[in-house]
Amino acid sequence: MKAIIDPLAGFCGGVQRAIELVEKALGNGEELAVKGELIHNRLEVQRLYTLGLESIQDLEDANGRSILVRTHGEEVDFFQKAKELDVNWLDATCPKVMRSQKVIQKAYSEGKQIIIVGQLNHPEVIALQGHCNNDAIVVDKDGAFPSLDVDQQTLLIAQTTVAPETFLQWQERLHDHLQNLEVFDSRCSFVNRRQNELSNFAAEHPGVIFVGGRHSSNTRLLFNICRQINPSTFFVEDETELDWEWLSNFNEVGISGSASTPMWLLKRVAQAVTTHFE
Ligand code: SF4
Repeated sequence: MKAIIDPLAGFCGGVQRAIELVEKALGNGEELAVKGELIHNRLEVQRLYTLGLESIQDLEDANGRSILVRTHGEEVDFFQKAKELDVNWLDATCPKVMRSQKVIQKAYSEGKQIIIVGQLNHPEVIALQGHCNNDAIVVDKDGAFPSLDVDQQTLLIAQTTVAPETFLQWQERLHDHLQNLEVFDSRCSFVNRRQNELSNFAAEHPGVIFVGGRHSSNTRLLFNICRQINPSTFFVEDETELDWEWLSNFNEVGISGSASTPMWLLKRVAQAVTTHFE
C-alpha cells in the first residue's frame, strides 16, 4: 500500500502565522492564553497546550497573561475591554479577515445595509458583526430570503471559507431584488485555490483519506469537494479513526487535509496506513 501525502496540503498562511506567533511568544517565556479554540484542529491545539499555551473563557480570566487573538479576529468591544482591564494581546487575526473587518466598518460608517454570507455562530462572523454594531444580516447556504430595505445601498460580503457556489447564489438572488448592491468577494484565495488543487489530487488517487477537525468549516468544505470528485474519500481526525475496510480494495491512497491540518498529522496518518498494510 502506498500512502501519498498531498504536497500542497498543510496550513494556510493565516494559521501558519498564528502558530508561529504562539511558538515565538512561548519560546520567549511569555505567558499566553487563548479565548476559545485557537484553530479547529484538536491535536494541533493540544500540542500548543503542551508548549504552555493556556485556554480561558473570558478576558477577566487573563490574570496577567497576554491573550492571543485568533485568526478569526475579535469584535471591537474585545479590544476596548482588554484596554480597560489592562490586558495585553497578541493579534493573530488573519490579514484577509482584517480586510473584511475594515470593509464592513467602512460600509457601516457610510450607512449601508450589510449582508454577510456565512454561518451565524461562526467566530469570524461574530467578530465581523462586532465591527458593524451587530447590524449585519447573516445568510447561509439555502437560507430563507431575509427581510431587506431594497432601496438602501447594500454591501454583500462573505465569511472567508464560504463555498464559491453559495456566494454566487446569494449574489444572483440579491441582484434580482436590490438596485444598489456592492459585492466584495472576501473569500480566501488560499481556500479557493485549494479547492482546485484538491479536486486534481482526489482524481489522481483511487482512494483519499481526508484529515481535519470535525468542527472546522474549511475541513467540511474541502472534504465535500474531495468526495464529489472521488466517492472513495474518507474523513478522519487522526489515524485512530482509520477503518482498514475502506482501503482494502486499493493499493494506493492519497492523504490530504484542510487549512488547519498540520503536516505532522498527515505524516502520522500516512505512516499508520503503510505500517498496517506492510
Ligand atoms: S483560510 Fe484563508 S482567511 Fe482563513 S486563516 Fe487561512 S489564509 Fe486566513
